[in-house]
Amino acid sequence: MKTIILRKGKEESLGRFHPWIFSGAIHHTEGDAALEEGDIVEVLASDGRFLALGHWQIGSIAVRVLTFKRQKIDVAFWQKRLAVALDVRRAIGVAGREDNDIYRLVHGEGDNLPGLVIDIYGTTAVMQAHSVGMHVCRQQIAEALRKTMGESLHAIYYKSETTLPFKAQLGQENGFIWGESSDDVARENGLAFHIDWLKGQKTGFFVDQRDNRSLVEHYSKGRKVLNMFCYTGGFSVYAMRGGAELVHSVDSSAKAVELVDANIELNFPGDNRHEAFAEDAFKFMDEMQTQYDLIILDPPAFAKHKDALKNALRGYTKLNARAFEKIQPGGILFTFSCSQAVNKDQFRTAVFTAAAIARRKVRILHQLHQPADHPINIYHPEGEYLKGLVLYVE
Ligand code: SAH
Repeated sequence: MKTIILRKGKEESLGRFHPWIFSGAIHHTEGDAALEEGDIVEVLASDGRFLALGHWQIGSIAVRVLTFKRQKIDVAFWQKRLAVALDVRRAIGVAGREDNDIYRLVHGEGDNLPGLVIDIYGTTAVMQAHSVGMHVCRQQIAEALRKTMGESLHAIYYKSETTLPFKAQLGQENGFIWGESSDDVARENGLAFHIDWLKGQKTGFFVDQRDNRSLVEHYSKGRKVLNMFCYTGGFSVYAMRGGAELVHSVDSSAKAVELVDANIELNFPGDNRHEAFAEDAFKFMDEMQTQYDLIILDPPAFAKHKDALKNALRGYTKLNARAFEKIQPGGILFTFSCSQAVNKDQFRTAVFTAAAIARRKVRILHQLHQPADHPINIYHPEGEYLKGLVLYVE
């Protein structure tokens, strides 16, 4: 076994079950062969005490911890972790349902599987590695996944082309690693969606907005809805079911506009309350009229890293100010940030500034976050990323 020995005092965070070891904490490595990216390593304290087993990788996060016990990492290990993950999804009430077969089965550190994401879309699982270690273990994990899911699973699509470090030169390709899917339609709360795991963003769908989409449905009756940054149009489809008078969906990508149109047609064929526009959000909001009384702002992560924070906050303020300026009196604004680098308070301050710029009276009705199938490991607060506010604009 290859071994990593930590500098004195650097074992402290592992004592608090934090699942990452930064490269600066490492004193030296031991073993017969040189370390290779993706290797499973044993981590010892400076006094030789066993601390953890994890995946080693070049970069600032050097080890992602798999377990704090000495144990074998094999199919049985993965199967046990996946079984707990599935049990959690049953407890939440998103798995094992006729009308809902879209959910996140594995959310990385949140499910004690750092570097791994698995989303379920009907009979297809989309598996994504964010670490070289999970990439190396993909066949074992796929086998464990098949055993865990049984007959409900027909195919596993592996989608890690853009999520693995480019420099590792793993030659990773996207593709089915088991079975094949005959159907790209899956259901969320009784609504049907085409899922494009081949070319779509993330694993093909933004599973993390499920609960917030339901809340949009609740507020939509009789309203004129604007869904900015619509992507596959999840919010739009829920707004339609909620009884919106009209729904306009906007995304700068023409492909996204095709997807939203297809999803509306799938659920509400021939319904002309909906229209989609391929346009830049800022341009659209500058030019739009003031007819909307429910606006959803769900932009891409403005800050991917901490150094981009200031610009990101300015971006959120500018975007929200436009919405406050144009929304009808008595309107409802759903506004989100999925940037992990922006915390709840910073986001709220950005929105507060926007409200003040537009000089509107604004009440906070709901404070939103990621859903239960995107759990946060209590020892890994970095896992919190999605935040949102629902506001009543007088
Ligand atoms: N709300 C979506 C997810 C949004 S992802 C859902 O529930 O599924 C962010 C989307 O913003 C992407 O589809 C991307 O194409 C779009 N986007 C990025 N920059 C944009 C811009 N300047 N104007 C409009 N859309 C933009």
